[in-house]
Amino acid sequence: MNRIFATKAGSNVYRLRIPWRPLSNDAAPLLSSQNAGNPEKESEAKQYDIAIVGGGMVGLALACSLASRPLTRHLNVAIIDSNPALGRKHFIKKEDLPDPRVSTITPATISFFKDIGAWQFVEQHRHAYFDKMQVWDYTGLSYAKYNARDADKEVLGCVVENTVLLSSLLSRVQETDLPKKIYPSRLNSMSILPNSSSSEVDSTLSMTALFTHGRLAKLELEDGNSLYVKLVVGADGGKSRVRELAGFRTTGWNYSQNAIICTVEHDVENHCAWQRFLPSGPLALLPIGDKFSNIVWTMSPKESSEFKSITEDNFLEAVNRALDYGYGPHPTPSILGSSDLFSWLKGGISKSANDCFEIPPKVIKLASERMAFPLSLRHANDYASKRVALIGDAAHTVHPLAGQGVNLGFGDASTLSSVISEGIAVGADIGEVSLLKKYEADRKPANVMMMAVLDGFQKAYSVDFGPLNILRAAAFHGAHHISPLKKSIISYASGEMRLPLFA
Ligand SMILES: Cc1cc2nc3c(=O)[nH]c(=O)nc-3n(C[C@H](O)[C@H](O)[C@H](O)COP(=O)(O)OP(=O)(O)OC[C@H]3O[C@@H](n4cnc5c(N)ncnc54)[C@H](O)[C@@H]3O)c2cc1C
Repeated sequence: MNRIFATKAGSNVYRLRIPWRPLSNDAAPLLSSQNAGNPEKESEAKQYDIAIVGGGMVGLALACSLASRPLTRHLNVAIIDSNPALGRKHFIKKEDLPDPRVSTITPATISFFKDIGAWQFVEQHRHAYFDKMQVWDYTGLSYAKYNARDADKEVLGCVVENTVLLSSLLSRVQETDLPKKIYPSRLNSMSILPNSSSSEVDSTLSMTALFTHGRLAKLELEDGNSLYVKLVVGADGGKSRVRELAGFRTTGWNYSQNAIICTVEHDVENHCAWQRFLPSGPLALLPIGDKFSNIVWTMSPKESSEFKSITEDNFLEAVNRALDYGYGPHPTPSILGSSDLFSWLKGGISKSANDCFEIPPKVIKLASERMAFPLSLRHANDYASKRVALIGDAAHTVHPLAGQGVNLGFGDASTLSSVISEGIAVGADIGEVSLLKKYEADRKPANVMMMAVLDGFQKAYSVDFGPLNILRAAAFHGAHHISPLKKSIISYASGEMRLPLFA
């Protein structure tokens, strides 16, 4: 494996003024000394402005975002992913059963999808906006109800199947004029040489010469193709190969918890997002439209293998119990007092403070297989180095309890394309580290804050201890009644990225 890592080049992006020009997809065939052993593949070496490694939701969102900006829409982009779905034009049909993998997307993500022209497709397929959410725990001490009207919003979010999101982004990227090529393969190796001493490099030099001068990265794919690119974007998920090859270290831990996910059917349509904290972890019931809901149930790996293998009837009974009287009583508002307790507060009582606790609709049928995912928290210490940037789960993997993971990734995609556009506006090299560090400086604090909040929640709600239960109930109670607190929680969860309480 040919691994040459970038050295820290302290050069200033505004000093290095290589005139920008889009690269041609029909770049002249290249014979390099690097791959002289394979003449057939040498002739296929191509040059691109950007290689997006990973055509998942976040990688494709970056391609759409680049296609939507005047200064980036002519960039030559390679998308590398072996997922066969990317080779098809329309890979979902209306009559298909729901995909058990769904994402709760925030109003900020909905605006982003509208900006990049991908929302129309989502609206033509199954999706469910929700404007109400109920959160409670098994102790029966308290509950919190959130309503979009508490924050003067129309919706709290929308639940969309991952295949619908992926398909909408793929359709959008296919219909734009962005010069792109999808490689149905996987990244094998990546080489990046230090910048040569001369600050001015003629950008019309051959690919190998630019590579030797440190102006291009070289990628080798599993199918034998070689690509030369100005910028490599790692959008290749939690086990990112780009992150590994670039030598980025990570911080994180496994939660020793699995999430069981599946789709279930009701006999009425569900319009609310429900989440109950059980001793083993949270259980979420999310509306997805057409009388279907999605279940995300966090539990120990041992329990998850049991719940995956029990009969459908026993599983449905366990879900209905867990969303009702199982593990503890229904919460009653009287336990911690009424909303009068908070009447002295400036900003007042929230609009939904008098909304009663409700029992979620019963599940009557399993509408998909049950899948189990191990849960972990992982964060890359750096998101950017020379010619490399990480986005999405490649940069950060979070606990799914608040449905924020892919929303953070879409935020990365939007910011990175904006930073690339700013770089092009000033004639910068889009792979220059000082430019890419602007992206990191923008996204890292927001992502770290969200990770800390979610990790805190995970820990606070996984302990069964008398005094902590009371504190937890008080937190629910406050969140239920206090208008400014409720408003700032909703804004933060909506993707407005201001800190709860201090907004
Ligand atoms: C149970 C569960 C529930 C969740 N619910 C939510 C939710 O409600 N809301 C939310 O916002 N988030 C949610 N998430 C998180 C969300 O699913 C992830 O954040 C999201 O999938 C990350 O997208 P991505 O594109 O960064 O990575 P991925 O979806 O992992 O995509 C990575 C892509 O890279 C490709 N790839 C990998 N290696 C290579 C390689 N070497 N070469 C080329 N390609 C490669 C893969 O084929 C894949 O297509 C949930 C996660 C879990 C586990």
